[in-house]
Order: sequence, then structure tokens, then C-alpha cells
Amino acid sequence: MLIVNTCGFIEPAREESLATLQDLAETLTPSQRLIAAGCWAQRDPELLLEAIPQLDAVIGTRSWHQIVPLVERLLASPAQPLRTLAAGAMALPEAVGAPGYALSGASAFLKIADGCSRRCAFCAIPLIKGDAVSRPIPAILEDARALQAQGVLELNLIAQDTTHYGHDLGMKEGLATLLEQLVAAVPDIPWIRVLYAFPGYITARLIDVLAAHPQLLPYVDIPLQHAHPAVLRRMNRPADLGWVRRTVATLRERLPGVALRTTFIVGFPGETDEEFETLLDFVEELAFDRVGAFIYSAEPGTAAAALPDDIPLEVKEARREALMVAQQAISLRANLALVGQRLPVLLEGAGDGLTVGRTYRDAPEIDGLVLIGGEHACNRLATVEIIDATVYDLFGELV
Ligand code: SF4
Repeated sequence: MLIVNTCGFIEPAREESLATLQDLAETLTPSQRLIAAGCWAQRDPELLLEAIPQLDAVIGTRSWHQIVPLVERLLASPAQPLRTLAAGAMALPEAVGAPGYALSGASAFLKIADGCSRRCAFCAIPLIKGDAVSRPIPAILEDARALQAQGVLELNLIAQDTTHYGHDLGMKEGLATLLEQLVAAVPDIPWIRVLYAFPGYITARLIDVLAAHPQLLPYVDIPLQHAHPAVLRRMNRPADLGWVRRTVATLRERLPGVALRTTFIVGFPGETDEEFETLLDFVEELAFDRVGAFIYSAEPGTAAAALPDDIPLEVKEARREALMVAQQAISLRANLALVGQRLPVLLEGAGDGLTVGRTYRDAPEIDGLVLIGGEHACNRLATVEIIDATVYDLFGELV
């Protein structure tokens, strides 16, 4: 049974999903079945079925919990492949008796909500997933305790917008409340990280809670998407850059050693040279530790898709390159400042005479690594002295 979890968020992700499906379809043996699952399967099931005639089933994000019965049906009728279209409302894990986490070694992603109630002009996620639905706190705590019992050392809390957590359940300051209960429920998990905070919604209470509990990592991820108010308004995003400057200053003051991450989109419709220069200046000024940069692509069905996609691809690419070059000098400075320090590192893998791990400053899969000489026992926290640094990664020695 071959299941491809497709991504339908942006064009390059769709191209990668299609290429993977096509590769598998070409080498399919008579006993194998091929299923397209995930976001793109939710968004364009008919298109996928047309593009890949060998597909046996398409199942979208809103029907993810039906994957087991679907596989059973396909296995039971090998001579008559089924085609089940994506359908249904978003189901939370507890509604279908499934865990809401994904585990890799001693690190886990724990879902606290799904869907998004905002309407950023460029974003297809609300079209794919629908409005935000928060998981009840007891269900999240139950998952966290199960992860603690399995020896997990790092919990990464995820949602499309973590700062929106609990609004749909009638909670104010839902994320702060959840975090307070979480640290009490899982005292043996030393690293708890919050990802994807929406600008404008990092409240004073949330910062107080982050500052009060050593388990909550001083790592804040605020995807800003742009830094010119006119572009942000066109994006239907918060345009109060004064809030961003004040909040970054407060975070740096209240959370010593905080690592700040953000992402930007370049080449949004109508982005002028001057607007892009404002973004570059802002990146220099704020000196985030980590920056991701994406090239705008028009996503069908979004508000921005109705605007002329008027920035030539080569200009978008040049802007992305300029942004990354500016950021690389800043990231390198931040990494070099760690040389000589001793930091706890989560050791995650060993081989070829090396061990790789991460400090609290690096979220799994998106940030950098620490490379350590020798092959050491993994899935534990160890003290490592940082001896050298590059733009993205650190080199260290086990103490
Ligand atoms: S907050 Fe994030 S997921 Fe929600 S619409 Fe905006 S970009 Fe998309």
C-alpha cells in the first residue's frame, strides 16, 4: 500500500507531490495500491484522479481518519480498485480516537488546533482546512502525558495559528492557559516549543507565561510575511509594525537568549522596489535569528489570485536572493556569538563518525543543526561546547 501525503499549499509543493505520485505510478506492481492523501487531495481530488489514472483512492485532510477503513476496503477487493473522494468536515483526533501527535525519536509535534479563521489574501489553507477548530485542553494534556511516558524530551505545539488557540472554545488567552496547564501536566518534558504565532496576538500574559516556566523554550516564531504596511494591507495581514518592534524588544528583554524566527513572502502583486527595500531595511533592523523567504505564487481561489501577478519571476527570485543574503550575515553573527558557550543539545542521530543534534534555538526540520564529532548515544539531552559556526549550523564537542 503506497500512500503519498500530498501538499497543496503552493505550486512547488504541488509539483513535488505530483512527481512523487507519477514516479510511484510508473513502477506500481499488480499487488500494490496507490493512494493520494493530504491537502492537495482535499483541494483537487478530480484533478489528481485525471492526472494519475493508476490512483486507487484519493482521501483529503478532512477525512484523514478514514484511512484505515479505506485501506481495508482496497485490500479486500484487489481486483476492483476503489476511488474514494475526499469529503466531510474536519475531524479532530479525539473525535475519532486517534492521537494528535507525530513522534520522531525524542521529539514530537503535538497538534493543538487545525484550520485557520484568518483570511490572508495569498493563503489557500482556509480553503483546504476550513476555520480553526481547537482541541479541548484535556485531550491535549492526555496526548502530552502519553508522550512523556514514552520518554519524549521535546514537544512542539503546532496549529496554523497557535495564538488563536481556544477562541472557538470561548477562551480568552487560550494559549497562555494551555501552556500553564501543560507545564504542570508534563514536568518531565524539558523542552516545550510553540510554533506559528500570529502578529499582534502575542499578549503580555503569554509573554509572562513564557518567561515564568523554564520548560517553555525561549523560541518565538512570528511569520510576518512582509514589513511594508501597504503590502501587509494588500495581504490582509496586520500592518502595525510598531507592534512588531515593541514585541520583539519585549521578547528580547523578558526571554534572555530568545531565538526569533520569521518568514516573508517576496513578489506579492504590486510589490514595488521601494516596498521591497523597506522589507530589506526591516530585516537588517530587527536582526531575527532565523528567516525563511518564499516567492509569491497565485493560489487559485484566494483573494490575491484576483490581482495581477505582475512581478516577473526573475525579479521575485532576485528579491528572495537579496533577502536571504542580507539575513545570512545576521544569522552567522548570531551563531558565531554562541562559540565558546556550553548549551544543552538534543542528540538525534549518529553515523559516519558524527552525531547531529539541536539546541533550543533550532526547531526540528526548519532550523539548523549542531554537528558533533564521534558517534554518541542519541535521544537524550547532552551538554555541548560550541566550537565553530556557519550561517545555519553549529559545530560542538560533547562536554
Ligand atoms: S494565518 Fe497562516 S494559515 Fe491562516 S490564512 Fe494567514 S497565512 Fe494562511
